Amino acid sequence: MLNIILMGPPGAGKGTQATRIVDAFHIPHISTGDMFREAISQGTPLGLQAKAIIERGDLVPDDITIGLVKERLSQPDCAGGYLLDGFPRTIHQAEALKDLGPEIDREVALVVDISVPDEELVRRISGRRVCPKCGASYHVQDMKPAKDGVCDRCGSPLVQRKDDNEASLKIRLENYYKQTAPLQAFYAKEGIYHAFNGVCSADALFDEIHSLLEAHQ
Ligand code: ADP
Ligand code: ZN
Repeated sequence: MLNIILMGPPGAGKGTQATRIVDAFHIPHISTGDMFREAISQGTPLGLQAKAIIERGDLVPDDITIGLVKERLSQPDCAGGYLLDGFPRTIHQAEALKDLGPEIDREVALVVDISVPDEELVRRISGRRVCPKCGASYHVQDMKPAKDGVCDRCGSPLVQRKDDNEASLKIRLENYYKQTAPLQAFYAKEGIYHAFNGVCSADALFDEIHSLLEAHQ
């Protein structure tokens, strides 16, 4: 069963790989970052709670995030596999997921971790532009849309994420190394951890990830 966690620091290319993985394997894409951004743009109580935290680059409190994922992962469309993107991000979240998985018969089977050095992450994030409508990512130099400032997939105007600035990125990276990187050892111990080098083309990386997932289908 393709019950997958996609891990990696901000700017590693998780979003790009996530889109390709869910298209190829027909499983739902569960991105906690996208869920929070959606809640913010809708002005829901969750969005109001999370807005300032996310914009400064901090993590939303575990109880909120865990509750959100519990609810989403229990939906019927996750019965045939799922791709978790951006969750878990702390050991506490990983432990909550470890309890929840068997409880709802959706235990995590594979962890795909993409690693990229800091200087490259900073370069990628500072040039990143995103489509607020469909979630597609672009880069002002490396991955330009066909028409400047317009999404290739849906025609919406592209924006820069509020947390894609130098100060917030610094906090996101610090949090990543302190809180999220320990998950590598956590999942290695479970025997389901797979590391990938993210410094290559999106196509080349996807080929490698695809081979791993195909073998586990
Ligand atoms: P990134 O590009 O940093 O990987 P995401 O789009 O995954 O960003 O998440 C954006 C922000 O949403 C995070 O910086 C954090 O504030 C919040 N967030 C997303 N997932 C989680 C999580 N699992 N736990 C806590 N906060 C989260
Ligand atoms: Zn779009």
